Amino acid sequence: MNWLTRLFQKQSPQIDLHAITVSHGLPGPRLVITAGMDGDEYAGIEAAYRLSEQYRKIKFYGIITIIPIVNLPGFQNEVSWNPIDRKYLKRCFPGSSTGSDTERRIHALYNQYIYPSTMWIDLHDGSLTESLLPFVWLYKTKYAAIDIWTESLIKQLRSDHILYKPITYERAMQALARKGIRYMLTESGSNGGHTEVAVARHIQWVETTMRHLHMLPEQVVPKSSQTAVYTDLIFVTARSEGVWRIDDLEDTIAVKQRIGEIAAYDGKRRIVYAAASGRVLWKKTGLHVKIGDVLAAIASF
Ligand SMILES: [Zn+2]
Repeated sequence: MNWLTRLFQKQSPQIDLHAITVSHGLPGPRLVITAGMDGDEYAGIEAAYRLSEQYRKIKFYGIITIIPIVNLPGFQNEVSWNPIDRKYLKRCFPGSSTGSDTERRIHALYNQYIYPSTMWIDLHDGSLTESLLPFVWLYKTKYAAIDIWTESLIKQLRSDHILYKPITYERAMQALARKGIRYMLTESGSNGGHTEVAVARHIQWVETTMRHLHMLPEQVVPKSSQTAVYTDLIFVTARSEGVWRIDDLEDTIAVKQRIGEIAAYDGKRRIVYAAASGRVLWKKTGLHVKIGDVLAAIASF
C-alpha cells in the first residue's frame, strides 16, 4: 500500500452500503434491487423497503439483494447528489476503490453486488424538484439473448410509457450487457412524493419482472392497452444558472417550442426551447437551476 492509498483510506472510512438479502433457499436467479442512487427520490426508497418485507413472506426462487439507499450521504442531506464529493452516483462509472466517496460507493456496488447477479433493477422517481410521468426504462443491447427476453418483458409490463433505447454512449450499460446482466430502471413518483400509488407501481413492475425471470410462477396480467414504447430520449439542459420558470406544458411538445425561461440573478432572461419533438417524460419544476441541470427529458419513437 503506497502513501497515497493510505492517505485516501485515512480520509475516507469504509463506505456504508446497507444491503438486505432475502432468500428462501430455493435455487434461481440473483436479483439486485437498488434505490436512492439519487438521495432525494423517496418513492423508490420506500418501495425497496416494502419489497424486502414482502418477499420475506412470499416464497420465490433465487436470491434478492436490496440496497434501499445507495447514496446515504445524499439522503441524509436531502439532495440528489453525494454532498461529500458533489458527484452524482448515476453519472459515475466504473468507480474506483481508492477514489472519492461516490467513486468507492459505485465500485463496491458493481463489484460486490451487480456483477455477480443475473439482473439489476434500479428504482428512481422525481426528486424534490422534478415532476415525471411514470415509466420503465430498458436498453436494447445487440445481444440477442438479452434483447429477446427484454422485448417479451415489455409485453408483460403494465406501464403507459416504456423507453426501450439502444445503448449508445452509456458505458455502464455496455459493461452489463457484455457480462449478460439484465437491467431495468423504473421511474414512479414526483417531487419527492411517496404516495401509495407511486410506491405500488415500483413493486408491481418488480413482481412482473420476477415472474419473467421465473423467480415467481408465471401469471397472465391484464395489460394497459395504450403502452407507448419510445426508442429515443433527448435532454434539454440548462446553459446558465439562475431562476427557472417552466411554462405550463402540454404532454406532447414540438421542436423549437418555448418551454420556459431562466432569469439570471440580476433579472436578465434567457428563453429555453425544446431540442426535439415528443413526449415530456420528466421536467424540472424547482425554481433554482444550475448549468447542466436537465430541464426537460423528451421521448420520441
Ligand atoms: Zn433518479
